[in-house]
Amino acid sequence: MEPKRGKQILATSGVSLDKRERRLLRRKLCRLLKKRHSVAPGTRRHIFARDGLKCFYCGKVGTPKGVTLDHIVPHSQGGSSHRNHLITAWLACNQSKGSLWLEEAVEQDLLNT
Ligand SMILES: [Zn+2]
Repeated sequence: MEPKRGKQILATSGVSLDKRERRLLRRKLCRLLKKRHSVAPGTRRHIFARDGLKCFYCGKVGTPKGVTLDHIVPHSQGGSSHRNHLITAWLACNQSKGSLWLEEAVEQDLLNT
């Protein structure tokens, strides 16, 4: 089943919102999403500098555009976005780990070590 878009959900739920209510709802959702994914200003640069742009998983040194921030405890499982809970990782390494906890990923030998 394909994911429903906002308008479809509203249409099938029988809820009708006027233009103003839709705008308020959209603003609330944007604020909520921003909050969930927000990392404090300067955190990215601080962590890349702390880790020397070195991927935590494979040890290769990258460029600021080639590496990502990874949550030690996956964000989807309530992991914090505080700098002490984030590490530098190549996008590929980060993706191969997915939403597993670091220990689970090591146990399942999913990292390119
Ligand atoms: Zn890596």
